[in-house]
Order: sequence, then structure tokens, then C-alpha cells
Amino acid sequence: MTTELSGTAALVTGATSGIGRATAVRLAALGATVVLSGRDAERGEQVVRDIRAAGGTAFFAAADLRDEASARALAARAVQLAGPVGILVNNAGIFPFGPTDKTTEDQFDEVYALNVKAPYFLVAELAPAMAAHGRGVVVNVTTMVAELGAAGMGLYGSTKAALVLLTKSWAAEFGPSGVRVNAVSPGPTRTEGTAPMGDALDQLAAAAPAGRPGTADEIAAAIAFLATDAASFIHGAVLPADGGRIAV
Ligand code: NAP
Repeated sequence: MTTELSGTAALVTGATSGIGRATAVRLAALGATVVLSGRDAERGEQVVRDIRAAGGTAFFAAADLRDEASARALAARAVQLAGPVGILVNNAGIFPFGPTDKTTEDQFDEVYALNVKAPYFLVAELAPAMAAHGRGVVVNVTTMVAELGAAGMGLYGSTKAALVLLTKSWAAEFGPSGVRVNAVSPGPTRTEGTAPMGDALDQLAAAAPAGRPGTADEIAAAIAFLATDAASFIHGAVLPADGGRIAV
């Protein structure tokens, strides 16, 4: 257990699974007090137990993120559990793929609500307090398909493209007050969320120099880097963690 982040409270959304869980575990191992969130209390409490068994400090806060109220309520609960939040990781997301003409309005609204509206109001609730304190970090989790046109991924990619722009806007808005806002842009990564894709994940990953899907821990390592003072001069950046896919 290191202490680099000791005394810092971190809120990680979507931490009952995949990349969010690996991020919560990694930030706790760096000494942060982690509030991890998701809808599934059973999986959330298991992550809390795992972190505590490793000597870390963690709490679970259940939240179904779908609107401003749920986002602001989660932010308030995190502060109640762990004190002023110094690190916010906007990771929770859904990624339905499919043809544009088969997408319903409900699906459209659901993806935008979780992937864009929730991060927006979590930042609205938490970043001003970070700014008043003169210090804070936000890391948004985007995707490589925010950067390129991929058939059937337009709805999902457009939500994350919005988050890429928000990353830069928030860096401009809050950076002068000491709040660093950055993003990690994963490529195909093996998680519970991508398990149903089976071999298609490998095919998607094959086009990249690394030639394989990433692991949740490899993405968490990039998020943790941006969350620590090792990234103290990095504002408004989108760090690809995609095996090189976007570069070629
Ligand atoms: P995952 O395994 O499906 O996990 C998604 C997390 O989001 C879960 O903890 C889930 O928790 C939470 N979540 C889902 N709906 C929610 C809701 N309505 N309210 C609150 N929490 C909700 O996903 P992942 O693969 O780790 O992906 C994590 C992030 O990385 C996403 O933003 C995704 O877009 C991005 N990403 C992933 C990949 C990849 O290949 N895996 C690539 C690029 C980007 P509950 O089920 O407990 O609610």
C-alpha cells in the first residue's frame, strides 16, 4: 500500500464492474478513500470487501445515474461518506451498438443520460468545491470510437465525443482554479460489459499495433496516472489507452 493519494477522497462511477472496479482498486491501493458507485449493491459491496481486505478504505454508494437529481444525490452521498471529493472518475457508461434506423428514442435518451448528463451534473456538483479548495482532479472515460466513424457505433461514439469536448471545456473552466480535467480513451477492453461481444472484441482489437484487447487494469493504470501529481502539468488531454488503434 502506497500513500500517494492518502487524505484524498475519490468517487468512481461504474465501479461495480470492469474498468471502474479496476480503477477503484488501484486508487485505493494508492491510499485514496474510494467511494465506488453503481446500481448493483451486491457487486459493489464485494469490491468494497476486496479493497478493505487489501488494507484500503472504500464505501459503496448505490446510484442509478439517469438525470441531474441522481447525479447530484450521488455526489452529496460521496461527500457524506468520504469527505470533500478530490478525484472524480466519470466511468459509468453503456455502449449499445446498432444501426441508426433501429435505434429507439428511449435508447437514445438512456445512453445520453448516463454517458453525458450524469458526468455533466457530477462535475457541476463537485468541481466548484474542488476549485474553492484550489485542487482537484476529474478523469472522464471516453472511447476510441469518439474519434473515428464506425458503422453502428454513432450513438455511443457521439456521447463520448461530447465528453471529449466537455473535458476540454472543463479544463478551461476549472483549470485556473487548480482542478485538472482529463480523459482516458480506451480501445477494446475485456470487461463484463464487452463479454457478450465474444470474438468481435478480438477482431476490433486486431487492427491496432498491440493486436489484442486491453485489460481493465491497463485502462485503470492510465486513469490513475492522470489522477496523481505525476500528471500535474496535464490539463484537457485525452490519453488513448487503445493499443495504438487511433494512431494508425
Ligand atoms: P461494464 O463492465 O459494463 O461496467 C459498466 C459500469 O457502469 C458498471 O459498474 C455498471 O454498474 C455501471 N452502470 C451501468 N448503468 C448504470 C446506471 N444507469 N447508473 C449507474 N451506473 C451504471 O463497462 P466497462 O467495459 O468497464 O466500461 C466502462 C467505461 O469504459 C464505459 O464508460 C465505457 O463506455 C468505456 N469504454 C469501455 C471500453 C471497453 O472495451 N470495455 C472501450 C472504450 C470505452 P451496475 O451494473 O452496478 O449499475
